Amino acid sequence: MWQMEQGVKFAASQLAKQSLHPVHRLKLARQYSLRDWIEIPIRMLLSTPLECYTEENETNLDFSLYMIIATTKESISTARKRLAHHPPFPNNADNAPFCLQHTACKKVWYEKWFLVLGRSIHHPSEHFPMILIPEMLEKMEHRGMNPECKKYVLDWIQLKFSSLIHKEEDLIQQAITTIHEMFS
Ligand SMILES: [Zn+2]
Repeated sequence: MWQMEQGVKFAASQLAKQSLHPVHRLKLARQYSLRDWIEIPIRMLLSTPLECYTEENETNLDFSLYMIIATTKESISTARKRLAHHPPFPNNADNAPFCLQHTACKKVWYEKWFLVLGRSIHHPSEHFPMILIPEMLEKMEHRGMNPECKKYVLDWIQLKFSSLIHKEEDLIQQAITTIHEMFS
């Protein structure tokens, strides 16, 4: 038994070096109970448009697995759209720090959100993970915005929008857990 496990592990390590399609990888993960092999193909499948799946993929993915992938993709897409279309910004009653040019700050924030962040979220081929949003915003140049206001908005986002920013990663983790349970 021990030898067989070693053999499977050796084959797995060899196959990991090949560029194996994620669907094929997942099939082997299920067949040989390679639990470590589940996460990467799931992440790859979730960022591959369904239209890029081939006929061979369809025969190797059973319907329940396909449905988990497809519904997770749909939920992720909704979460991404929601965030891309609604730039978070504290309302005027929340006027800390005191700022004399806050209308300009808000304008710069919205413009950058739609023109830079929104475009990255909606990019048709390059996947931009939502979890990187705070880091991207921090690095982005918000010329014309009071730096204190920018810092305030970033802290406010971490506090109030953390669950929305982590939504994509939570959905991916949920899919991985469900598939782990299906395979065990
Ligand atoms: Zn301001």
